[in-house]
Amino acid sequence: MDRNQELFARAQQSIPGGVNSPVRAFKAVGGTPAFIEKAQGAYLWDANGQRYIDYIGSWGPMILGHGHPEVLAAVERAAREGLSFGAPTEREIELAEEILKLVPSMEMVRLVNSGTEASMSAIRLARGATGRKKIVKFEGCYHGHADALLVKAGSGLATFGHATSAGVPEEVVQDTLVLEYNNPAQLEEAFARHGSEIACVIMEPIAGNMNFVRASIPFMRAARQLCSQSGALLIIDEVMTGFRVALGGAQSLYAQAIAGFAPDLTVLGKVIGGGMPLAAFGGPRHVMEQLAPQGPVYQAGTLSGNPVATACGLATLRLIQAPEFHARLAERTRQLVEGLRQAAADAGITLSVDSEGGLFGFFLLPELPQNYAEVMRSDSARFNQLFHGLLRRGVYLAPALYEAGFVSAAHTEQDIAATIAAARDAFADMAA
Ligand SMILES: *Cc1c(COP(=O)(O)O)cnc(C)c1O
Repeated sequence: MDRNQELFARAQQSIPGGVNSPVRAFKAVGGTPAFIEKAQGAYLWDANGQRYIDYIGSWGPMILGHGHPEVLAAVERAAREGLSFGAPTEREIELAEEILKLVPSMEMVRLVNSGTEASMSAIRLARGATGRKKIVKFEGCYHGHADALLVKAGSGLATFGHATSAGVPEEVVQDTLVLEYNNPAQLEEAFARHGSEIACVIMEPIAGNMNFVRASIPFMRAARQLCSQSGALLIIDEVMTGFRVALGGAQSLYAQAIAGFAPDLTVLGKVIGGGMPLAAFGGPRHVMEQLAPQGPVYQAGTLSGNPVATACGLATLRLIQAPEFHARLAERTRQLVEGLRQAAADAGITLSVDSEGGLFGFFLLPELPQNYAEVMRSDSARFNQLFHGLLRRGVYLAPALYEAGFVSAAHTEQDIAATIAAARDAFADMAA
């Protein structure tokens, strides 16, 4: 008897599509989603008792692996003191101070509950602070599901975006300009046309929502310069990359390559909560002070800065500051992607791979893609074959070719070796 199938059938009776977030439904890859019963370290167990090596890590938060004893102890202690107060706490200050220490481009930070809320609020703040309404985003980057961001490119530069979801009126997305990632010339042209009306440019510095596509140095430099010249704010969405690709996030890597580089606003989520609902946005004091109650830009939340979530986030952020934490994580992740590339090559399959810190991506393409259109040239049928080949062998990857992979500090060399062995078998099946 397959408990996953049973639970999926039952879930569809009471929950739309059987899931509370679409990608969990395995629609892109087909088949029945594994219903997870428990997790420990680098492993998940599903309702059939099948164990998986977990390369999703809750889509990023579980950088320490599941069930780290110090994180659990902090959560348990906090829960006993109270689940929620709706009043300020000292722990919120401690977490804010910790974040500002690790991400020096931020002088102040506000805590919220999800990455969606953080991006949405950062954009409202950018519009409020600049008094402008147009925003620029890039095709293939995801910043949560706020109305104004559910948009795809129009037919040309002069036209603004089209909504990608029912229920989003065209008027709501008419100020969102969607451009090609890694195309500085197009960004320059957009600023030449609309510069004085653009409130902000929002981007993922390494786009983990199109698997793994790095912003090129010229692209990032152009975004920074164009925003500065025209008085727009550069918002770097580090919900996925923050504290994961490096302790200081992807922005710390770009600051090494581009003299004086810093975003105006930063959006954080995922690792920051260590597995509890917590996200944040922040930036310079004079911009952040535009937020209510100090300033005119409204933003609020009943559970914002929740005492249990902040305890979990704080414990996580402190543990990842251990010496060599990110260097070790990066090394383990490189071992994985190099092993995958080699295993594919031995089976005569082209695989391009990349990784940074504990984030990785791979494509069944000869070269790493640079934008959404190139990512979408991947053969999804072959990806799905690989996905299921690995899942059957106890390796749990993100169930869609446009999603990144996540390694945690709990993944051992043996886990990596077992994953590569499973991949060898899966690639052999694909080549047969
Ligand atoms: C996950 C993600 C979000 C949305 O965060 P939620 O907590 O799911 O709302 C926003 N931006 C990026 C880059 C993300 O990866």
